[in-house]
Amino acid sequence: MEFSILANSFNKMESTRKRLELTQFLVELFEKTPHQVIAKIVYLLQGKLRPDFEGIELGVAEKLAIRAISKSSGITIKRIEEEYRKEGELGHAASVILEQKTQTTFLVEDITVERVYETLFKIAKLEGTRSQDMKIKYISSLLNDANPLEASYILKILLGSLRLGIAENTVMDALAIAFSGNKDNRKVLEHAYNVSSDLGKVAETIATKSLKGIEKFEIILFNPIRPMLADRVKSEEEAIEKMGNNFAAEYKLDGERVQLHIEGDKVVLFSRSLENISSYYPDIIEKIPKAIQAENVILEAEAVAINENTGAFLPFQELMHRRRKYKIEKAVTQYPITVNFFDILYCNGKSCLELNYKDRREKLEKITKENEFAKHIPMTIVKNDNEIKDFFENSINAGSEGLMLKMLDKSYQAGSRGSNWLKLKREYQNELGDSLDLVVIGGFFGKGRRTGSYGTLLLATYDEDTDTFTSICKVGTGFSDENLDQLYQILNPKVTIKKNPRIDSEMGADVWFEPELVIEVVASEITLSPIHKAALDKIKKDAGLALRFPKFTGKIRIEKAVEDASTNEEIITLYKGQKKVAHDKNLI
Ligand code: ATP
Repeated sequence: MEFSILANSFNKMESTRKRLELTQFLVELFEKTPHQVIAKIVYLLQGKLRPDFEGIELGVAEKLAIRAISKSSGITIKRIEEEYRKEGELGHAASVILEQKTQTTFLVEDITVERVYETLFKIAKLEGTRSQDMKIKYISSLLNDANPLEASYILKILLGSLRLGIAENTVMDALAIAFSGNKDNRKVLEHAYNVSSDLGKVAETIATKSLKGIEKFEIILFNPIRPMLADRVKSEEEAIEKMGNNFAAEYKLDGERVQLHIEGDKVVLFSRSLENISSYYPDIIEKIPKAIQAENVILEAEAVAINENTGAFLPFQELMHRRRKYKIEKAVTQYPITVNFFDILYCNGKSCLELNYKDRREKLEKITKENEFAKHIPMTIVKNDNEIKDFFENSINAGSEGLMLKMLDKSYQAGSRGSNWLKLKREYQNELGDSLDLVVIGGFFGKGRRTGSYGTLLLATYDEDTDTFTSICKVGTGFSDENLDQLYQILNPKVTIKKNPRIDSEMGADVWFEPELVIEVVASEITLSPIHKAALDKIKKDAGLALRFPKFTGKIRIEKAVEDASTNEEIITLYKGQKKVAHDKNLI
C-alpha cells in the first residue's frame, strides 16, 4: 500500500477534532487498506509500532532526526534548527524546508506503508554503539524517497509527536462500520480489545474473518487482559445501598496490581497499565509456578512489600525500590514481597471471565496453593454494614487501604469501571472527599533544605477530549526528604527543552517534564481559576479549575499510565459535588 494514502489521511485527520469526521476519515482509509497491512495501519495511527504491552519504543531524539534530515536533503543543520524554532514541530518544519528545497531528488522507489513500517521497526530494535549512525542511515534513506508530506509524518511517528487525537473507541467505531456496515457492532470489537489489549490484532481479525471471526475472539495467553476497575463509595451504608445485603469483601492491599500469565515455567507479569513488569519481580517468576496446579493460567494478584521479620504489610512506596534496571537481585532481598491472589481470568485453555465471582474465587483457591510467598487475599462474605465495618477495621489494622466489595453473581468485566466492584478507602474522608491522581508536567527548583531537588511541582489533569494535560495546581507540601530524592531521580531524565505539545499550561515552570509520571494529592477545595487550564470554559467562560491547598500524599503512582490520571470530567463532578454539599449545609 502506498504510504502517500496514509500520509494524506493523516493530513485530513489532523485538520479536525470532531469525532464523527475522524470516524468517517478512518472508514475511508480502512476501505482502501489491504487486509495484510491493516494491523500496521492501526498501530501507526496511534503513533506506535506494536501494542503497548510489547514495550517497543522508537525513541529517536530530535537532534538525531535533524542530522538525518540534513543528510538526506543536503540542507545545513543550522537552517533546519532555525525552521524548527519557527514552526515549533520538527515534522512540520521538515516538510516546509523540503518544499522549498532547490536540490531536487530523484525518486528512487515509491514509498510503501510496509517499507516505512519495517524501517521504523528496525530503528526501534537498534541498540549498541553504532546504533546512532545506523538510525541516521535508515531515516535518511526513507526521507530520500519521501515527498514533503510523507516526510513530515515519518518524522512525527519517529519523534512520538503524531497526535491525531483518535481514541481507541473511534478506531473501533470505524472498523465496525467499514467491515460490518454497522457501528453498533463496536461492542463485539470492544470485547476482543478488552481481552487482548491489541487493537491491531482486532482490526486484522475483523478484516480477514469478518464479524463471525471477531465474535469467536478468545483470550490469548501472554497478551494482557484489560483490568476490571472499581467505583468508589464513601461509606459502608452507601455500599449496602449499591450492593444489597450479600456480597464479598476483600482486603484492599496497598501494593501493585499484577496480572500473571503462566504456562509451565514461563511467567509474564503485566502492571495495571499493561506494561510488562516481569523484570522487577524475579522472585515471582521463580516461585509462583510451584504454587500453581494447572497447565496454564492467568491470575490477578496484589504484590505487596512486607516486613521480613513480622510479615506485616508495608506501604506501596516500598515497591518503588524494585523499579530499576540493574542490581534487581539486591532489591529483591532488601524489599521482600508476598503475592496475594484475588482473581482468575483464564485456566487450562479456557476463559474464566464469564464465571461469576463465587465460582472464580473457588477455582482460584483450588488452583493456587498457599505458601509463605503466595497467598489468597483475605475475603469474607458480608451481609450488613456492621460486618463491613468489622472487616474494614481488620483490614486497616493489617496495614491495608480499606476494602474491595464485589458482587457474588457477577462476571469479570474486562476493561471497565463499574459498580460490580466497589472500593471503600479510609482516606476518602478527607475534605475534598477524594484523592486525585495528577500528572507531573513542570518543576521549580527547591531552595534551602530542598536545594538540588524540585521543591514544587506543577500538576495537570488529563483531558480526554483533546488528549492533553491541563494544569490544575502547584504542589509544594507533603514531601518527605526521601520523596524529594525519589522524585528527583525519576523526574530528572524527563526534563525537556521544549514544553511537550500535549501540555496545556499558561503557568510557567523552571523546567518542563515529559508528561509520564502520576502522583497522588489531596486538597481542601476546587476553585475557579483565571490561570489554570483544567476544565477551561466548562464551568465559567475564561476560567479553569484549580486545587486549593493541595498536598502530596506520599504516593508516586508508578503503576498508572498518564491517561489513567484524574480527568477533567472527574474534576467537574467533584466541583459540582462540593457545591452541592455546601448548598445542602446552607453554606451558599
Ligand atoms: P486506586 O487509585 O484506588 O488504587 P485504581 O484506579 O488503581 O484505584 P481501582 O480498580 O479503582 O484501580 O481500585 C482497585 C485497585 O486496588 C486495583 O488496581 C489493585 O491494585 C488494588 N487492589 C488491592 N486489593 C485488591 C483486591 N482485593 N481486589 C482488586 N483490586 C485490589
